[in-house]
Amino acid sequence: MKKQFELVATVAAGLEAVVGRELRELGYDCQVENGRVRFQGDSSAIIETNLWLRAADRVKIVVGSFPAKTFEELFQGVFALDWENYLPLGARFPISKAKCVKSKLHNEPSVQAISKKAVVKKLQKYYARPEGIPLMENGPEFKIEVSILKDQATVFIDTTGSSLFKRGYRTEKGGAPIKENMAAAILQLSNWYPDKPLIDPTCGSGTFCIEAVMIARNMAPGLRRTFSFEEWNWIDDRLIYEIRQKASQKIDRDITLDIMGTDIDARMIEIAKENAQKAGVGNDITFKQMRVQDLRSDKINGVIISNPPYGERLSDDQGVTKLYEEMGQVFAPLTTWSKFILTSDEGFEAKYGSKADKKRKLYNGTLKVDLYQYFGERVKRQIKA
Ligand code: SAH
Repeated sequence: MKKQFELVATVAAGLEAVVGRELRELGYDCQVENGRVRFQGDSSAIIETNLWLRAADRVKIVVGSFPAKTFEELFQGVFALDWENYLPLGARFPISKAKCVKSKLHNEPSVQAISKKAVVKKLQKYYARPEGIPLMENGPEFKIEVSILKDQATVFIDTTGSSLFKRGYRTEKGGAPIKENMAAAILQLSNWYPDKPLIDPTCGSGTFCIEAVMIARNMAPGLRRTFSFEEWNWIDDRLIYEIRQKASQKIDRDITLDIMGTDIDARMIEIAKENAQKAGVGNDITFKQMRVQDLRSDKINGVIISNPPYGERLSDDQGVTKLYEEMGQVFAPLTTWSKFILTSDEGFEAKYGSKADKKRKLYNGTLKVDLYQYFGERVKRQIKA
């Protein structure tokens, strides 16, 4: 089996640099591209990045890349790759995804079917199985993905399984949750550090608060879930165990935190508490029912992160406008606090009553949203100086 792999961490548009930084912090050199970050590594890298990356979606192995303008070229290209280094006899290997962009080959189901045939043929040859008799597929799963961009095919094996945003702690999520990896990315884009107070006044299922504790305590986000690679025979179980053990030992239990989540909806507060318990951070967050309109604080240099309702239906518009106005009014006296507000409402600044110091375009799933950033006085002075 192989020792060294070409890897990519896939990531939502706009957050590539955050994942690049996370990879460098883990000690991997990397190249940031649109929607993904490339790096190299061995089996430990596959384990470690799945366990530790907070803002990425998935980690995939790049099996190979080749030009493919015809189905014949696609078949030969897939056949030529070293599948025997990845897929043991008995492996299940669905071509789980095919994506064609700006390419002659554009029929995605056919790309899937041809690619499958090519891998089957390669394995039949390598394992000396008779052609014409299907391979038994009852072992560990290796999900294969084919992407064809401008007639260049790239073939991946997904190492992750269900997307990395699924940390395993959020079973109840309420109506409009933010993805865990997006919340972690926004916290890393903000100027919040664990020594500052943090409030999410529209906390819903508690995602921002929970991710903040996990960052502050250096808790690996993947500790409470499993990954596809854990089924694979060529990734050593002991190595997985060791890297998981090491991650558990890195948790910083001493640091004192000041993190609060509030929401108008008492049911959401119950859900947030439950999720925090499941994430192992139940004692680190104060959750309470409150209207954002009632938010006051004597503390200084804190950070507010909020993902208020957007008003997707016209009938919600009035309520949302009023809510944004009121947010502007209650946040204004908190002059030393920085505020980060995520909404798809392009008229947000007018309703809130002041222009953001900085705006950043992001995608919450397929919905375009903006992160409106208002910096506290001290930060503003530092920027000016
Ligand atoms: N980020 C959250 C989702 C937020 S959805 C998560 O990850 O789950 C918006 C939340 O704002 C909802 O939970 C809703 O109950 C709350 N909300 C709406 N109006 C509010 C108000 N006036 N004060 C406080 N919270 C409010």
